Amino acid sequence: KIRIEPGRIRPLDDAAINRIAAGEVVERPASAVKELIENALDAGARRIDVTVADGGRRMIRVADDGSGIAAEDLPLALSRHATSKIDGSDLLNIHTFGFRGEALASLAAVGRLSVTSRPEGCDAARIEAQGGAPGPVRPVAGRPGTVVELRDLFYATPARLKFLRTERGEMQAVTDVVRRLAMAEPYARFSLSDATDAPREVFAVAAETGDPRDALTARLAAILGPDFAANAIAVDAEREGLHLTGLAALPTWSRGSAVHQYLFVNGRPVRDKLLTGALRAGYMDVLSRDRHPAAVLFVDCEPAMVDVNVHPAKSEVRFRDPATARGLVVSGLRRALAGAGHRASSTVAE
Ligand code: ADP
Ligand code: MG
Repeated sequence: KIRIEPGRIRPLDDAAINRIAAGEVVERPASAVKELIENALDAGARRIDVTVADGGRRMIRVADDGSGIAAEDLPLALSRHATSKIDGSDLLNIHTFGFRGEALASLAAVGRLSVTSRPEGCDAARIEAQGGAPGPVRPVAGRPGTVVELRDLFYATPARLKFLRTERGEMQAVTDVVRRLAMAEPYARFSLSDATDAPREVFAVAAETGDPRDALTARLAAILGPDFAANAIAVDAEREGLHLTGLAALPTWSRGSAVHQYLFVNGRPVRDKLLTGALRAGYMDVLSRDRHPAAVLFVDCEPAMVDVNVHPAKSEVRFRDPATARGLVVSGLRRALAGAGHRASSTVAE
């Protein structure tokens, strides 16, 4: 029988607090890449170049051409709960990917972090942090925008290191993150390079142009292949302030697994049971049970209609009105499929 002596309560020091919080935000290299790309997009970047070595373990670098960080703000950028994105008074009205102000602080706690930034019309400056402790801000040469580099991820937490997959497994997860974010941002150009040996580009999409639907179709053709785009129909529906857009593959282009299901809420890639279920239900009458629909769907609404604050990694969401969200997806898909001549045998009404 284990007896626990009553102990004295002591506050944790900052380094420990950061390391614990970091565990929630940075599970693996792909989660770091996601946070860094989202920061670039929040900064209005139109060009995002990601480089990783050893599946992200040895090095992750994200370079963008966004608005940059003022030199005097660099120490704040690395401190917890400091953000330029919300003022804290309206957590229901978030229009950016970030808002918790903990990604960079967490990365600084789990690796060797350096942030080099140059806002328009300013000189570039760099800050480096190790084990959560930021060093001084130094002037350097640099291009407009921001370069964040994370080296030796989890060097201070060997337990975490042990849980990582093989280099290939981690690289796959990183690639998946870049592809998903690129789907939602067709006007930005993305590249992913593997610098493990000789630098090698593993993924790249050019910035798309044209109206949103054309740009999206071109982007999805670039990422999922022209075959997907040629066999998919546009989805466009609205219900009580929730908007559904995207491309849904014809039933004939269904897959043996759910690999080609990409769901986004307000531009965020999500893995959401409710939406996945609705996607299935939308195809129910036109697909046999062992087939899986392929679709890229975007649900957009006022930020107050959906809570993205469920988990720090933010891949889950909670709709204020889940039944409406489900109904929108089911009926939007059915209508689009019916319009393409795949009228379900039963009723189309939802
Ligand atoms: P959050 O994104 O939740 O605000 P982060 O820790 O990810 O928190 O970033 C902290 C702050 O650093 C951001 O609010 C932003 O002002 C700044 N920042 C981080 N990355 C970039 C970037 N790539 N370009 C411009 N500013 C950035
Ligand atoms: Mg962020």
